[in-house]
Amino acid sequence: MKKLDALVVGAGFAGLYMLHKLRQDGFTAQVVEAGSGVGGTWFWNRYPGARCDIPSVQYSYSFDSELEQEWTWKERYSAQPEILEYLDHVADRYALRDGILFETRVTAAQWNEESRRWTVATDTGTTFDVQHLILATGALSDPKLPDLPGLENFTGPILHTAKWDASVDLTGKRVCHFGIGSSGIQTVAAIANQVGELTVFSRTPSFAVPCSNPLLSAEDSAAAKAGYPAMREIMRHSALSFATLPKSGSAKECDPAEREQRLEGAWTESTFSLLMEFDDLLFDDESNALATDFARRRLARTIADPEKARKLIPQGYPLGSRRLCTEIGFYDAMNGEHVALVDVREEPVVQITADSVDTAQGSYPADAIIFATGFDACVGAIKAINITGRGGQQIANEWADGPRAYLGLAVAGFPNMFTITGPGSPSVLSNVVVSIEQHVEWIARCLSDMRAQGQSVIEADPCAEQAWMQHAHEVAHMTVFPRANSWYQGRTADGREVFMPYVGGVGAYRAKCDAVRDAGYEGFLLG
Ligand code: FAD
Ligand code: NAP
Repeated sequence: MKKLDALVVGAGFAGLYMLHKLRQDGFTAQVVEAGSGVGGTWFWNRYPGARCDIPSVQYSYSFDSELEQEWTWKERYSAQPEILEYLDHVADRYALRDGILFETRVTAAQWNEESRRWTVATDTGTTFDVQHLILATGALSDPKLPDLPGLENFTGPILHTAKWDASVDLTGKRVCHFGIGSSGIQTVAAIANQVGELTVFSRTPSFAVPCSNPLLSAEDSAAAKAGYPAMREIMRHSALSFATLPKSGSAKECDPAEREQRLEGAWTESTFSLLMEFDDLLFDDESNALATDFARRRLARTIADPEKARKLIPQGYPLGSRRLCTEIGFYDAMNGEHVALVDVREEPVVQITADSVDTAQGSYPADAIIFATGFDACVGAIKAINITGRGGQQIANEWADGPRAYLGLAVAGFPNMFTITGPGSPSVLSNVVVSIEQHVEWIARCLSDMRAQGQSVIEADPCAEQAWMQHAHEVAHMTVFPRANSWYQGRTADGREVFMPYVGGVGAYRAKCDAVRDAGYEGFLLG
């Protein structure tokens, strides 16, 4: 059994930086990664059209200015291959690969009361005896397949966007595609001209704004590199961790003609400009309704076929309460004559046969099926590990009624276990790389402080955890977020919703974590 200070699960943005930081700080550490390479999200999500929706100069590490200066992004929003290339470069640049055990899945972790250490098991039989267990398992890493009757009878390839098999050639094929969230919108746009026939099955349509994605010129890159220090500082302390801040002013108090003009400008500016055009859009129902109405009218102008428009224009939830998507050619693709749209709420799937998807109203021939049906978000990858904490309590049981965690960093009853971008932290409601860096640095500092003070165990105090969850709940309900059925929500056994990411803002959250540390890890029990 390998003995280490820390075991890190996952080699995405979070796991790579965590390993580097632990090594820098003199800890023995190892990463275990289920995939055969580094990159996490960007290793697995190889579907056509996959790209980030936060400018790459922002969606990248800030911890080393030399790395910033030597890496030149090619486009404003990079596609998956370029982001993966970047993370491969990071792994090589900091010589991280020898600390990563690939193609190995952590299956179980058991807290040992006597040794005050974790015993960690993997699917290859390798085991570890570690003081700290750090879950860098990703909030969007556990793909979900819908439970459709007869799926096992389908004879063609079945693809999930997050487990894409690039060897499948879709050229000229009849493809049935499920889901039009961020991944589905990108996939549909990228394959529409390649396939023979495309039937898109949607359930909850998304708001998607056009993505303007110019190549970055030498001047653009030079300006970005010169501006990194100031830009990163803004991002670390702003609410959404973007380089631009929401514009002040209320939508409902704005002159209607001016409001329309501003929203029109924001529509094409950049991914999240629409939500940041007024600073009350995510908090004030009336202001949000005005922007939601604008977005619906804007989409009606974009989608030519009125029947498709009826199915594609979101109804029944506020703009921004589900992840705002971006599109490059999605609505154009949907306007195509060889592209059909089925709303499964009106026309549920009754069965899948060897070569078709059948609904109550018709049969749609299929040579291949694509699922862009999302993830068991925020908790899936953690609950999939059989983690047994103090007194035999298991994380999957403890979180059956929705996740609980102190600051989204630690869970009461699970000593010396940290989650990076865990539930209760800003995570998926931020530029995730900014949130990852903040968590990695906080955890590394915590471990160093413990070592300096001769402490071997840290655990979230259940009272502090409860207070944080209550605070997170209250803040979420001051916004429009909980008013949509979205993957941001966990659900308790009795059907209550638990809003999982922390909505209070990245800057405020960082300040809280720093204050907790400066007060001697307030809300944690140390021993
Ligand atoms: P991940 O990248 O998910 O890595 C987790 C790793 O842990 C995976 O490789 C997984 O295999 C491994 N793992 C999990 N469980 C185990 C186990 N039991 N044993 C071994 N290994 C395990 N965020 C943004 O801020 N901006 C964007 O534009 C953006 N675009 C995205 C696009 C897509 C298609 C998706 C799916 C997500 C996107 N995200 C975006 C969110 C993205 O997940 C994060 O930005 C970030 O990449 C997460 O990094 P991570 O290291 O925390 O987790
Ligand atoms: P998602 O947002 O959860 O979208 C999945 C979609 O599939 C939903 O609309 C869902 O509808 C639908 N669906 C599920 N089961 C279905 C069924 N049986 N029939 C028809 N439709 C079904 O997942 P995702 O698109 O993979 O994106 C997840 C997150 O990853 C994003 O929100 C974003 O944070 C990130 N991401 C970002 C980018 C980017 O542009 N940077 C790209 C991809 C992903 P319901 O909502 O009704 O369940």
